[in-house]
Amino acid sequence: MSVDSKPVVPGEKVGVIEEFSPSGLTYEKDGEIRSLVLGEAMYDKANRIISVKSVGLKSKIPKVGDIIEGVVEAITYSGPVVRIYSVNGREVSNDLSGSMRTRDIIGNPVRLGDVVRCVVTENINNTLWLAMNSQELGVLHTLCTICGANVTPLPPDKVKCTKCGFVDSRKMVGFKPFFSKKHFINKLDHEERNRRFKFNSARKYR
Ligand SMILES: [Zn+2]
Repeated sequence: MSVDSKPVVPGEKVGVIEEFSPSGLTYEKDGEIRSLVLGEAMYDKANRIISVKSVGLKSKIPKVGDIIEGVVEAITYSGPVVRIYSVNGREVSNDLSGSMRTRDIIGNPVRLGDVVRCVVTENINNTLWLAMNSQELGVLHTLCTICGANVTPLPPDKVKCTKCGFVDSRKMVGFKPFFSKKHFINKLDHEERNRRFKFNSARKYR
């Protein structure tokens, strides 16, 4: 067998360019070949090629109920968008992101650049919807919006800057979830509308 393999972590040295040519999911630095991802390094000794195959959830999309961690990369009209880097504690290397619905949240539970832990609440045609609706979910790491210094949690729903003293709203991990009352009212309205629609439809065909 001319192909050996071994498990590797991102940044791990897998070989040197004097011995091998780097291929898929590797990078070269100072004559050394390193892995870009968590995966398996494949050594093709006959052709002197090193490649790394990702063992991340490459083609796997998280399911409802999975816990993800990621970075808030945008805050759009429909809600914060999270670039996902791990699913159920396992690093993912593929391009995955999910959104939190604005209607599910109040105030500013997250800010751009925050590291967050969320649950996947819906997967609609591979569009992931996320929520921070329990005490274990929320912001894992954040900085002051004004000066960029570290903050200390100020339960139940705020953080305070250690440098400039600015107090800002956040849903930190450990904080009880806070929801918009409007969300519940809308949900009830929706259910009520559905009920009436079904009732009216049934009456029409009687
Ligand atoms: Zn500050």
